[in-house]
Amino acid sequence: MMSALKKIIWLCVVAVMVMQTPLLAVHAQEAGGSVPSFIRDAEIENYLRALATPLYRAADIDPNSVTIVIVESNVVNAFVAEGMNEFFYTGLLQLTDSPEQLAGVIAHETGHIAGGHLIRGKEEMKNASAEAILGMLLAVAAGVASGSGGVAAGGMAGGASMAERSYLTFSRSVEASADSAGMSFLDRAGVSARGMLEFFNKLKDQEMLPADRQDEYVRTHPLTQDRIDAVQLHLDSSPLKDAKLADKFYTMHERMKAKLLGYLQPETALLRYTDNDQRISARYARAIALYRTGQADHAITVTDSLIKQEPANPFFYELKAQIQFDNGRVEESIANYKKANDLLPDSSLLRQAYGHALLESKDQDRASAKSGARLDLAIQQLLESNRLEDRTPLTWRFLASAWGRKAELTQDPHFEAMATYALAEESAAEGKDKTAGQLADRAMKGLIKGSVYWVRAQDIKLSTTPDDDGKKKKD
Ligand SMILES: [Zn+2]
Repeated sequence: MMSALKKIIWLCVVAVMVMQTPLLAVHAQEAGGSVPSFIRDAEIENYLRALATPLYRAADIDPNSVTIVIVESNVVNAFVAEGMNEFFYTGLLQLTDSPEQLAGVIAHETGHIAGGHLIRGKEEMKNASAEAILGMLLAVAAGVASGSGGVAAGGMAGGASMAERSYLTFSRSVEASADSAGMSFLDRAGVSARGMLEFFNKLKDQEMLPADRQDEYVRTHPLTQDRIDAVQLHLDSSPLKDAKLADKFYTMHERMKAKLLGYLQPETALLRYTDNDQRISARYARAIALYRTGQADHAITVTDSLIKQEPANPFFYELKAQIQFDNGRVEESIANYKKANDLLPDSSLLRQAYGHALLESKDQDRASAKSGARLDLAIQQLLESNRLEDRTPLTWRFLASAWGRKAELTQDPHFEAMATYALAEESAAEGKDKTAGQLADRAMKGLIKGSVYWVRAQDIKLSTTPDDDGKKKKD
């Protein structure tokens, strides 16, 4: 399904195998796009949240109950799975020209959530190979909930095509209602539906694809003229017709696109954003692209100019820290991660990166007072990261490593049990039930009975041990 040409697989269709790699930040597979990864990035996630939150509220949906997932893929797509997971492909994010266009997509997807379309779909697809596609959706959702890979990768590619076709037949019948709900959410949130119309028209323009592609495009493309006409009609009579979102959204949108291009297509970014272009977004894309093409020193110089211009922007410090960390300058990265966290204290991803850098510090030589303090600070940051977003396997892996080191330093076997407990959490979050249960069992033996971690380990053990019917005792 991956090709250089952008394929339009519009809304609600899963057509690619998805596998997640745990990431500290945006991290692209260099292999020419074989298997897409999920992307974790504090800045882009913050932007999507800022745009989506008023729309969720307008739909009477608790914003905290929705998981926003970014999939690295050139395919233009967005869909909802299991009701509360919204997937956005980087191909779609990069195709949107304005925050209003992206808001239009989010509003449409939120219309699917509010309408419970996916659940109805499950019924309708019973007799087709739809089970396969839903199974994949569930696996993807499970992988997302766990924040990691193995689970989401399944051998689904072969069965996808037929299931996809029948799923699409169904989705055509609900697209218009998702649009209609989406438009009412946009109205309530004070956002013009102009962006939705613009984006639909943009997709329509893509019908100029070569004929051998057009067939599939038409088949998988439930966008009809009726839908476009309905949005146009709504817009014509809307008092919000010419309303524009606040400038800050335009800034965030521009930087999201600059960042994605810098990470995913650094060579293109360097051509598009030349030295002459002094806009912040242009320099941001360039700094990232320089870093991604192995020009760390130059990348840091450009990043420093960004920090000078916006000294309160946490993401510029994060970028500088990431460049330093990846180039073996761990000590320098720690100060910049700290600065990023001071500026944005409630980001689990920034906490995780800071904790990881502290853990990799060269100061971790045996038994000095400084290394002990560093290690304790690392543990504190990782626990805080977990508090902000639980069930992220990578954070648990770092914690296991930190507690393991603590056990070495102190010769206290209790910390060894803590490390084992953290590995149990990692496995549980990855959906590796058997391993999680075994590790939890082993951890319990070394933990103080009745303590918080002992209770958690017991929960893992019970929830991952199948009973006689092969069902889990607990969820
Ligand atoms: Zn849809």
